[in-house]
Amino acid sequence: METETHSFQAETQKLLDLMIHSLYTNKEVFLRELISNSSDALDRRRFEALSNSELQSTEDLEIHLEANRISRTLTISDNGIGMTREDLVANLGTIARSGTLEFLNRSQDDAETPSGSEASPDLIGQFGVGFYASFMVADEVDVVSRRAGEDKATRWTSKGAGEYALEDAELDLAGTTIRLQLKPVDDEAGRPDFCDEWVLRQTIRKYSDFVGYPIKLTIIEEAPPLEADAGEAQGEDAADKQAADPGTPERREIEETINSMKAIWTRPENEVEEAEFGEFYKHITHDFQDPMLRVSTSIEGTFEARALLFIPCKAPFDLYHRERLHNGVQLYVRRVFIMDECRELLPDWLRFVRGVVDAEDLSLNVSREMLQQDRQIQTIRKHLVKKVVDRLKALSNDDASKYEEFWLEFGPVVKEGLLDFEEKRDRILDLVLAPSSADDAKLTTLADYKDRMSSDQEAIYYIAGPKLDVLRRSPHLEAFVEKGVEVLLLTDPVDEVWVSQGPISYGDKPFKSVGHGEVEIGSDEDKEKAKVALEKDEENLGDLLEAMQSALGDEIKEVRLSSRLKASASCLVLEDGDLSPQLEAMLRQAGQEIPERKPILELNPEHPILVKLGERFEVNPTDPKIADSAKLLLGQAILAEGAQLDDPGQFAELVNKLMTETL
Ligand code: ADP
Repeated sequence: METETHSFQAETQKLLDLMIHSLYTNKEVFLRELISNSSDALDRRRFEALSNSELQSTEDLEIHLEANRISRTLTISDNGIGMTREDLVANLGTIARSGTLEFLNRSQDDAETPSGSEASPDLIGQFGVGFYASFMVADEVDVVSRRAGEDKATRWTSKGAGEYALEDAELDLAGTTIRLQLKPVDDEAGRPDFCDEWVLRQTIRKYSDFVGYPIKLTIIEEAPPLEADAGEAQGEDAADKQAADPGTPERREIEETINSMKAIWTRPENEVEEAEFGEFYKHITHDFQDPMLRVSTSIEGTFEARALLFIPCKAPFDLYHRERLHNGVQLYVRRVFIMDECRELLPDWLRFVRGVVDAEDLSLNVSREMLQQDRQIQTIRKHLVKKVVDRLKALSNDDASKYEEFWLEFGPVVKEGLLDFEEKRDRILDLVLAPSSADDAKLTTLADYKDRMSSDQEAIYYIAGPKLDVLRRSPHLEAFVEKGVEVLLLTDPVDEVWVSQGPISYGDKPFKSVGHGEVEIGSDEDKEKAKVALEKDEENLGDLLEAMQSALGDEIKEVRLSSRLKASASCLVLEDGDLSPQLEAMLRQAGQEIPERKPILELNPEHPILVKLGERFEVNPTDPKIADSAKLLLGQAILAEGAQLDDPGQFAELVNKLMTETL
């Protein structure tokens, strides 16, 4: 048959124009597209050969790249299923893919906005445009293909302008060979040279490393001029040859397979050495240490996906700078790399998890926008969260000290999940470790805390603040410690937030701050006793409290007596539901308007200071020492919180006065 010329379908031509004039910087994606087409063609051949042994290839299935540096052509060949003449017309003359059509529509929308006369470059990267991406780097594309099981081959050629030509061709074996006449290298535009061995290696490793077929590379370039003494050593022949034809092309076959082919997640877990997993982890994360934990999982059913996830030993330095955090989970579709940092696959509070998800049924052209709404991605995400959480829970049961290491690195991030209303909170609370008043050295789980609770304890008590030492010495703990009631000491900034997103409980037990509201601990009898004693003290000291309150003015909301103090004379408390001072400061910093809130000053009626003040008040209710003492007690209470005094000078003056009198 003679050469026939066909016109491109209108949409195809539009797409080609976009490719030819593309400003997209990652033009290298063309290679990913061609290699993945080849890999698909090899998959299909292998598959069809299962039921039709005539289609079986006599050679090993592989993808071969040949870069000719002299003619500046790059050829990608495979011995896959191949295409007939009709296939070529249908596949390379029209656009059948919905993703590509969507891309076209989107780029049209872009063009209609006043600023854009051409497709915004990153659309290309998001959609991937398959075979047509070749025209970003090539002036002319030549495809020779022979369908497996047929004798005839066909050549398809185009410069991307309006039409393509078809003619009969020869091809020894079934498969497809695509030759690109590359555009000149433009160093200034930063366009890489796709005839360069290093560029090709890099691009293959980046996008196609785990393609399941070997990718081989041959470079054709001018033979290097022979060195003078080497010529002598090899006799006259070599020297003559060099003189006659210094530009002899030399074929240099790169011996090794360029891609690692290690689609390690497709192999049965028990057949993969731990060291191999480690190597794979390091390869994708550039971490130099082995991972702390590995989670392999697969989803079966209406659609399939596999995931191989890792938790690093150390938190990356940018864990708290989300916009700068790199890596995360890579998305593959059928062993073909689609994107890095696929955040849709895991919630933010698991952003330290690394690894690969490989989905069988997603489109290769899935874009980030599409991922957010994709039901399969949502299902995968739920599955992954559950698996990671289960794995961590198992670690905490099996190896408490290793789990503690994990928690110290990533605990604060995990607790961010408690702020996410879509998550199952109890499942995350199961992972929480915290220091407690019970044991200085050890962290406790909430379950263990609950096991140690006495039957009449109604709540999980906690105290939150920035410094562990300050919390341990807080006056708020005194009554609890005396009664043997354990209190969790929460020191991460995120703790203030999740505990105040109340009402929050773990199982049937609510969390309760020891610094908020009234304390009621112990048996009913204890509570009753404390109440009666307090009422009596209030009767005796009521007028004194009023005098102190007026001395302190509007610095505080109220002065009252309390049964929460044992050794200390005073402390500050908040009303139930009040935000802690640290949280208030955080919210103010974030630009939120927080109304002024005053604390309550609680005093210990049993403390000798209070007893003496009571006696002094009896003698002279306007004794100036009463006002001074009120200010000192308030200052102490503020300092005990680890907070700062509004007027440290005045406090020092009062202390000095007191010391002078007593010394
Ligand atoms: P996609 O690969 O997403 O379908 P392309 O535009 O890249 O879109 O390719 C269009 C079609 O051309 C493919 O679906 C496939 O049928 C065919 N094709 C492309 N490359 C090859 C190849 N190397 N071997 C066999 N068929 C191919």
